[in-house]
Amino acid sequence: MHEEVLRRAAELSIDFLSSVDDARVVPGDVLADLRSALDLPLPQQGVDPVTVVEDLARGADPGLVRSQGGRYFGFVTGGAVPASVAADWLTSAWDQNSFSYVSSPAVSVIEEVVAKWLLEILDLPPQSSVALVTGCQMAHVTALAAAREHVLNSVGWDVAADGLYGSPRVNVVGGAMRHATVDRAFRLLGMGDSAVKQVPTDSSGRMLAVALAEVLDDLSGPTIVVAQAGEVNTGSFDPLDEIADLAETAGAWLHIDGAFGLWARAEPSLRHLTVGVERADSWAFDAHKWLNVPYDSGVAVVADKEPHRVAMAYAGAYLVPSQDRRDASDWTPDASRRGRGIAIYAALRSLGRDGVADLVARCCAHARSIATGLEDLGLEILNEITLNQVLVRASTDEETIRMLTDIQDGGEVWMSGTSWQERKAIRISISGWSTTAEDVKRTLDAFSQASR
Ligand SMILES: *Cc1c(COP(=O)(O)O)cnc(C)c1O
Repeated sequence: MHEEVLRRAAELSIDFLSSVDDARVVPGDVLADLRSALDLPLPQQGVDPVTVVEDLARGADPGLVRSQGGRYFGFVTGGAVPASVAADWLTSAWDQNSFSYVSSPAVSVIEEVVAKWLLEILDLPPQSSVALVTGCQMAHVTALAAAREHVLNSVGWDVAADGLYGSPRVNVVGGAMRHATVDRAFRLLGMGDSAVKQVPTDSSGRMLAVALAEVLDDLSGPTIVVAQAGEVNTGSFDPLDEIADLAETAGAWLHIDGAFGLWARAEPSLRHLTVGVERADSWAFDAHKWLNVPYDSGVAVVADKEPHRVAMAYAGAYLVPSQDRRDASDWTPDASRRGRGIAIYAALRSLGRDGVADLVARCCAHARSIATGLEDLGLEILNEITLNQVLVRASTDEETIRMLTDIQDGGEVWMSGTSWQERKAIRISISGWSTTAEDVKRTLDAFSQASR
């Protein structure tokens, strides 16, 4: 019953992955085609599974973004290494409800191992608790819920029991270039946008430690500081060691947004960027970006298990508590959930420590080559290339936009635009395992044509 449709899906997947190098990286105007192929009447009687899958693949194909290929540099987007794609198929075939040990002993143990491996490869405190969630956004929510629990608990307020009605005010501090998901996390946790005190940043988007010291001096009471390891435009790191000193002195909880940048820690030549990161109280990062695992896969880590568990665990009479075994629902905001650790397990094992280091190093080397090539074309590089991000612009905003549009329309390579210090810029993020020197060359050729 399963066999034919699963084999067909495997063939179609392989066809797609084999096509990514030759097809347009991002579709042109396909909205009408997609709707006419996919917007079918809801059938009264079911359709044969093989037909469903074949029609789906055919209908979706023109609208698929080839971010699995080597020349998609939009946002911060990883591909998915082969072992993790295959493990993700198994995840669906196994279809385990992965909320507890009892509901899936296998996934519980796989995720226990993943938690240990992640702490090991990123060199975070080994006793930390780990939550595998949908993305860095929910990793922020999870870790900052633990932060809120801890800072309020330390002034005698039980937020789990009493919520924020009548609670002491929690001070929230973040750099001016923090990611928008941090603000949304605070909003979901009952601390609105206006609660966030903004610390100015330098020309690379790094929080100014002196300015943070001033902000913290003026505050008293429960405080959470959010710092960043890897700014989305420049790839810059906040001065984490200095920030850790200041947070420690202020008795504040320090949370790190390391969505992609935390992976720099897996590559010895980049470790210096992350010095001090291990002193934080919590971290949020993605597996679906730089580790190249399929969506959706984010990770929250909390150094002190207790507030994490208090913030997340739930109890029900029908739930069987397990002491020495991992119940994911104690650590995540989810009840029923996908066994999303399975794909991370496969990625980490297939790459190994050396493979992850090499993936990170390769992306950074490509970023440097692209920046050098673009400079040779007379374009202006706006950031110091310390990581995998390149910010570039032409002589005027109009010319920058025209160039970006030409490149995007060309279909050979794709990247997104941004604004940096009030000027238009093109942002190139090299985060995929499959980008090669040939892709770098083809990217530079596309720029060369567009700058004519
Ligand atoms: C991508 C990103 C996020 C959000 O992560 P999601 O996986 O999209 O939820 C947060 N912070 C930074 C720095 C990012 O690059």
